[in-house]
Amino acid sequence: MRFNLLDENNNKANALTVFLVTVLFCFIGGHLRLPPELSLFWPVNALLAGIIVRFPFLHRSRTYLICYLAMVFNDLVFSGWASRSFTINFANIIFILIVASLLIKRNKPVPGLSRPGKALLIFPACLLGALASATWGTLAEGATVGENFLPVWSDWVSEQFSTGVLLLPPLLTLPARFSLNLSCWRLKKLLPAMAVLASIIAAALIGGAGSLTFPLPALIWCAIVYPIAVTSLITLIVGVAEIMLVVNGVMNIQGNDELLALSQLVSARLGIATVAISPLIVAVSVDAILQLNKQLALRANYDFLTRLLSRSGLYEQLRQTDDSGQPNVQSAGVMLVDIDYFKAVNDSFGHDSGDAVLQEIASRMRTVIGDQGMLCRFGGEEFMVVLFNHEQTALFRIAEQIRIAIFMRKFLLQGNTVSITVSIGIANEIRPQKSRVETVNTLISAADKQLYQAKRNGRNQTMQPIATAAEPIR
Ligand code: GH3
Ligand code: MG
Ligand code: MG
Repeated sequence: MRFNLLDENNNKANALTVFLVTVLFCFIGGHLRLPPELSLFWPVNALLAGIIVRFPFLHRSRTYLICYLAMVFNDLVFSGWASRSFTINFANIIFILIVASLLIKRNKPVPGLSRPGKALLIFPACLLGALASATWGTLAEGATVGENFLPVWSDWVSEQFSTGVLLLPPLLTLPARFSLNLSCWRLKKLLPAMAVLASIIAAALIGGAGSLTFPLPALIWCAIVYPIAVTSLITLIVGVAEIMLVVNGVMNIQGNDELLALSQLVSARLGIATVAISPLIVAVSVDAILQLNKQLALRANYDFLTRLLSRSGLYEQLRQTDDSGQPNVQSAGVMLVDIDYFKAVNDSFGHDSGDAVLQEIASRMRTVIGDQGMLCRFGGEEFMVVLFNHEQTALFRIAEQIRIAIFMRKFLLQGNTVSITVSIGIANEIRPQKSRVETVNTLISAADKQLYQAKRNGRNQTMQPIATAAEPIR
């Protein structure tokens, strides 16, 4: 039997889970208080916001009330805070509510939140949540504007913002179920993670203003190599590690580190270099993606065997011409060219010989058509030629040139000279009114009927063009 801690139809279980998680993480957060009045990390707000975004059915006043009660309960029992806890904890609810409201749309997480583009929404959501929560919290702590307000407020904002930005990406991207396949984790795949570790060690050794940025290139490397969830998790670990190192004085961002005495300028220079190289890494990876896209488009638009346009490639070109707003054509013609008894070629001489025939026929057709029209492998052993602004007589003449070019020169297949023929059906339309794509589409079925007729008439022949235009055949 499976028991879900959070289940849309089980309000009691949800209430209990939310209450316990809140108390647990408030307790952990309370023990990270350093100095006692302020938290080094207060992960509970970002954690609860993340849970509510992942399970949007929790995004209702009841859940927020339970969170609030759990926080007050924790303070009364573990922190010994009395009345203050009622006001201060309201600041936490403000953060959770703002972040969840901004990341949930129509009772679902904002679509694509786990993708890099949309994930950037986490930044403004956390910033807004942190600003509002800090303002309430600072006033609730009794700070007075103009006196000690700014240091308390800025500490609160920076903590809430950074914890949110570090914690929410892994929370929102971690898959609900994942399996660990250790066999695919080769040493090479661990290099980015090792580079992160090395950069943190370097940051701790060198210190100074620039040291915080040292892990940036290694993190971008992770982003390129690992899934988003793993990268977010590593980023969270780095963020927490850096804060811990700074707090414990291991990473001295003021410079004059005792571990390795280097000037502030050295640290700043290294930091600036790190920042400078990071966009370059992103640019290189974006460029690689674009190249890959181009290759994929090329693969889809061209037939691998004959190097002719594929059917989709031909449609793509027609669509582009349509979209470019070029004037209508005077006439459109489509030829379907089908190899006769091609199956017998495969059967007698093997599939490789069949492929060679297809390549040779494509090459001969290319020579005949040149730049008069468009040529594509329509599928299997069938080719299509599209010609604009050609009269019927010209279409027939070109089709005959193709047929003769194939028929007249025999093919050499495994030491045998073999005669191969094609049948051709043609259709044309004069002054077509529709787009090129639509016109060609209509002409294909008409040409196919003509091709069928050519086969029935005994093959190795071109049928006279059939006109599909409203105008009568002249
Ligand atoms: P018809 O004269 O009626 O057109 O007869 P056909 O044998 O040419 O037509 P059929 O449709 O019976 O067979 C077409 C054959 O084309 C069957 C298929 O194996 C072969 N074929 C399709 N694509 C390829 C390819 O890429 N390479 C090879 N070698 N053969 C292919
Ligand atoms: Mg066929
Ligand atoms: Mg055939």
